[in-house]
Amino acid sequence: MRFFGVSLAGVAFGSIFVGWFLARRALSGVDDVRQTAQSIAKGAFESRVPVKGTGDEVDQLAVAFNGMLGQIEAVLCSMREITDNIAHDLRSPITRMRGIAEVALATGGCVEEYETVVGRVVEECDRLLGMINTMLDISEAETGVAKLNLERFDIAKMVRDVYELFQPVAEEKAIDLRIDIPDSLFLVGDIRKLQRVVANLLDNALKYTKAHGTVCLSAAPNSTGVMLKVSDTGIGISEKDLPHVFDRFYRCDHSRSEQGSGLGLSLAKAFVGAHGGSISVISTTGAGTEFIVTLPDKFH
Ligand code: ATP
Ligand code: MG
Repeated sequence: MRFFGVSLAGVAFGSIFVGWFLARRALSGVDDVRQTAQSIAKGAFESRVPVKGTGDEVDQLAVAFNGMLGQIEAVLCSMREITDNIAHDLRSPITRMRGIAEVALATGGCVEEYETVVGRVVEECDRLLGMINTMLDISEAETGVAKLNLERFDIAKMVRDVYELFQPVAEEKAIDLRIDIPDSLFLVGDIRKLQRVVANLLDNALKYTKAHGTVCLSAAPNSTGVMLKVSDTGIGISEKDLPHVFDRFYRCDHSRSEQGSGLGLSLAKAFVGAHGGSISVISTTGAGTEFIVTLPDKFH
């Protein structure tokens, strides 16, 4: 009886010890998560929960928690980068306007001179407003806030209209602008937004192709909808730049001499994305570039 009592006490003591040990082990993982959350709250966004590699629930929680932290950090980084870029790109036109006005004030002058200055300030303001509106359009399209005015329309006709609009620019630059489209090609989409996509791609093709080059604009049906292509025999995009051309404000070094704010391709990508389509680019430096847009049919 006495032996039985001692054994029972031993088992009870052992169970308490094992229970305490297991609870401590489990809680130590939870405590790691708590500590990491506290250091992130203090601003250490790079903190991560140590993963022990045991594969138990707490370890899986740590992996999931770290994954979520990685995503949040990436979004924060990209927001910081966008804010920096916006600040940088808005500063230049504002500094220019201030400079123009300051010089006019300092030197004085006749009414005609003041008129020229005011004209230049209005021009800069228009550029600035254009940039801000484009940034808003991109954000709205990317976040899904933008309302698409869907209608069934002839995309071949729309492409032809854009082609005709740009023909004088091509002629002025001595570029052979070609078009390859069927008589008609119907698609459901937002005609104005898709017009801006084609116009931006064509504007780039003409801007980054030298005299006597060729630019070709084509539209054709494919298995899922419509495929648009804008190809040129221009300066091309280097391998280093290629992954970044759709980023907001990204401009390759060789294009700095041309006017632009580096928003055209971001806008095109956001509008195509809002239609459920995709946009890609193939390019060879010095030989040319091709942008390919695919748009799904029966988009609702
Ligand atoms: P914006 O379109 O805002 O007037 P942008 O033309 O410089 O300015 P994007 O259209 O976004 O900006 O293009 C980004 C960059 O990609 C350009 O600055 C240019 O360096 C490169 N790029 C785009 N299209 C072409 C092309 N067809 N050939 C060569 N480089 C191109
Ligand atoms: Mg452009």
